[in-house]
Amino acid sequence: MAMTNNFQAGVKPLSDIEKTMIARREKLLGPAYKLFYQHPTQFVRGEGVWLYDVDGNAYLDVYNNVPSVGHSHPLVVEAMTRQAAQLNTHTRYLHNNVLDYAEHLLSTFPSSLSNVMFTCTGSEANDLAYRIAKLNTGGDGIIVTDLAYHGGTDAIASMSPSLGKHVAIGKNIRLVPAPDHFRNSGDNAPDLGKTFADNVRVAAEDLIQNGIQPAALLVDTIFSSDGVFADPAGFLSEAVDVIHEFGGLFIADEVQPGFGRLGESWWGFQRHNVMPDLVTLGKGMGAGHPLAGVVARPELLTELGKSRYFNTTGGTAVSCAIGKAVLEVIESEALIENAKQVGDYLRTALKDIATRYPVLGDVRGAGLFIGVEMVENLTSLKPCAKTANRIVNDLREKRVLISSAGPHANVLKIRPPLPFNQDNADHFLRCFEDVLNEL
Ligand code: PMP
Repeated sequence: MAMTNNFQAGVKPLSDIEKTMIARREKLLGPAYKLFYQHPTQFVRGEGVWLYDVDGNAYLDVYNNVPSVGHSHPLVVEAMTRQAAQLNTHTRYLHNNVLDYAEHLLSTFPSSLSNVMFTCTGSEANDLAYRIAKLNTGGDGIIVTDLAYHGGTDAIASMSPSLGKHVAIGKNIRLVPAPDHFRNSGDNAPDLGKTFADNVRVAAEDLIQNGIQPAALLVDTIFSSDGVFADPAGFLSEAVDVIHEFGGLFIADEVQPGFGRLGESWWGFQRHNVMPDLVTLGKGMGAGHPLAGVVARPELLTELGKSRYFNTTGGTAVSCAIGKAVLEVIESEALIENAKQVGDYLRTALKDIATRYPVLGDVRGAGLFIGVEMVENLTSLKPCAKTANRIVNDLREKRVLISSAGPHANVLKIRPPLPFNQDNADHFLRCFEDVLNEL
């Protein structure tokens, strides 16, 4: 959400120091960087699910998925500093960290997905997956959802329509609507899985009619930027069959939903009971350290192996030490179970709140990835970005951090670090209801 100068009532004015920092930032970084919140934040320290500003105030983090195991987790910090003090080399030397981490990571996947390649960002991971898909299919046609975000490289930005009208969608890209169960429910509701698969079929046929061989269906398995669509679990499976029928691959983008965030399982594709050909990873993988990658069926890497792959800082000894510590914390602190339990608790409580405030149209998601769709009212179901924006900024004034997503930026995005507990959920719910009462 970009900063504006027209602050809503209740938002504290900027201090002189903040105004200077913002001006300096704009001068140095240029116009493409957008700040969160009408009143931007300046944090100096993080611990668990809390962030602390320059004055020592604590903010409850209900938004950041990158510090997946909590801000500055001591075991992650220890693993990082220990390895950094010893050696940090790249993947062209033998090092046990790389192998131990690869082994541990791959043990969380079905056995057919048994190779991993490291990158530094999710964008690069998708870019590499795209290359692999092209090499294996001979095509370059890609099908993504209407408001997908898959990254910022030139190729991947061209298949990330959520970047908006100033970024052109590639001629080889086709868009399909995300399966929206909120606006397609009730007695006469279509079968979402079938509708999604039919749309993928139309897109694949259109590619072929235009002389473009489909290379892949690429989806974020929680459809984050489309507005968070999780249910009914399983709706992806027919579409995966369709892309295979057309000779294309299925790439599961797990950059947002992966590493246990959805509860119950490690990966979002497992909720849909589908088997991807390629899986892309990032964000929480390195708990804030630049670590990302592609997990693949090994036979798909044969063609790529005829050339050389090297990523200077992707999968270094330090990165792999961090990645391994992240996996160990997820396991030892039972964070997947926590995501399920606290996520269910939050969604149930939010659904209860929704019965009292008709601006809450829908509460959805899985585990600790929750979307709350704000609407004008329950009859029109018209998206209401204004209310969503107001809530996001009012919560920030109460030192609670969330954001919004979706085609109209009217879906509240609730996605805390995984150690978020029931007390944290209660704190959030109290502040959320206070904000609703003040609307
Ligand atoms: N895929 C998805 C679904 C994402 O949300 C993002 C980042 N928001 C990316 C890929 C790109 O990751 P990165 O910013 O690490 O390049």
